[in-house]
Amino acid sequence: MEQQRSIQLMDTTLRDGEQTQGVSYFPQEKVSIGKALLQSLKVDRIEVASARVSDGEKAAVQQLTEWAKGAGYLEKIEILGFVDKNKSVDWIVESGAKVINLLTKGSLNHCTNQLGKTLEQHIEDIRQTISYAHSQGLSVNVYLEDWSNGYANSPDYVYQLVDALQNQGINHFMLPDTLGVMAPKEVHASLSDMIERFPGVKFNFHPHNDYGLATANAMAAAEAGVDSIHCTMNCLGERAGNASLAEVSVVLKDKLGFKLNIDETEIHNIAKLVESFSGKRLAANTPIVGADVFTQTAGIHADGDQKGDLYMTELSPERFGRERSYALGKMAGKASINKNLEAMEIELSPENQQKLLNKIVQLGDQKATITPADLPFIIADIMESNDFAHIELLNCSITSGLDLESSANIRLRIGDEVYKSSGHGNGGFDAFMKALEMPLRKAKLSMPELLDYEVRIPPGGKANALTECIIQWADDKKQFHTRGINSNQVFAGIQAVLRMLNVRLHQRQA
Ligand SMILES: [Zn+2]
Repeated sequence: MEQQRSIQLMDTTLRDGEQTQGVSYFPQEKVSIGKALLQSLKVDRIEVASARVSDGEKAAVQQLTEWAKGAGYLEKIEILGFVDKNKSVDWIVESGAKVINLLTKGSLNHCTNQLGKTLEQHIEDIRQTISYAHSQGLSVNVYLEDWSNGYANSPDYVYQLVDALQNQGINHFMLPDTLGVMAPKEVHASLSDMIERFPGVKFNFHPHNDYGLATANAMAAAEAGVDSIHCTMNCLGERAGNASLAEVSVVLKDKLGFKLNIDETEIHNIAKLVESFSGKRLAANTPIVGADVFTQTAGIHADGDQKGDLYMTELSPERFGRERSYALGKMAGKASINKNLEAMEIELSPENQQKLLNKIVQLGDQKATITPADLPFIIADIMESNDFAHIELLNCSITSGLDLESSANIRLRIGDEVYKSSGHGNGGFDAFMKALEMPLRKAKLSMPELLDYEVRIPPGGKANALTECIIQWADDKKQFHTRGINSNQVFAGIQAVLRMLNVRLHQRQA
């Protein structure tokens, strides 16, 4: 039997990814992401900085290497360095790192027009830096910047450069498609040629996504036989970004049968971590890690799931540490509703199920999103019962001033008990949350963690429009969100909180 081929991933979220417009990490964020990539996601190697950027950057790398030394990951941390005699190497040694990724010119065009040097002069400079790096105890990898254009326009230059460097004790020759101009067939042909010409040399491929072909190109490179693929979390990187680690790892595994070291169950968590720290939101339809990709909108798919996983693919949410959810709305079928009811442990008679379905379809015509958390209220509405009025805000006044702390005074009923409470805080919503603490404590009701708070008005709305507040929550079982609608945005937030508490009180009684 043929042995399963294995391939390495090198993640450059913290170096190339930081070249994304508007992204720069605080040192502590860099350290957290670096640890998560190595320890949880089990990425083979990570590139974390460019040498000589700043002292702050050096301090961040020092923190990371300090940790990595103790945890046994030091050899997996790499720093981009330049052909500058001693400068980059010295910076890297001071940062505590052990690997330099030396940026050399991979095209005649760059060598002649940017450096104004001949290939021979450039090779001489590179050799100097390499031998200094070795003398300082660093391992050396080499980037051939602009290799894709170099290979297309000046292949002899590329061959001579690799030939001159291949016996210089270099671990990885890293071939970037710097401007993201290649297509899969070109990637396969050129890398096959390089691999055949230089047997024994370890080649890495470094795609960029300008044509949206980064994942397809990574696939072609893996088929051609490269040793490693470079990628980033969430496809971060200059312009259209690098290749997405989530996509590349899943495609190499599922479509080409490669063996990888990545722990897929961590992909989603780390994508969210990088999303918060980078401030670059993931599109909801991003493959594997987007918010919507495991949500079935059409009722027929949920029906298929119920009748024996008819719409199951290898891309299951559980595989990535996620759960499948079923959106409600115009296209909802009975099966989607049942799945949601099941998740909330609510049982309904067939007759009420039909009523509920009709109501959801009707509401779905009026507004775009109906969340599963709306279900108890819709159910209550249908059955004209007060089942879900477990908690009720009887009175609430909030005062805020430009230079003043906000305060909230509330009268609140939980079950049969009425509480009066007040709170101060940083803004009206915070003051309300503080005022809630005492009544919730007395009612022995815990508050889930607030993950995200989003306020918006309908598209094209004016200042007097209704505001919608969606709050994302998490408890030890799962994440969920609730919505509140009010003309006052603080009260929209308060309504979303009350909805959440009502659902929890109902579940507690069930
Ligand atoms: Zn790059």
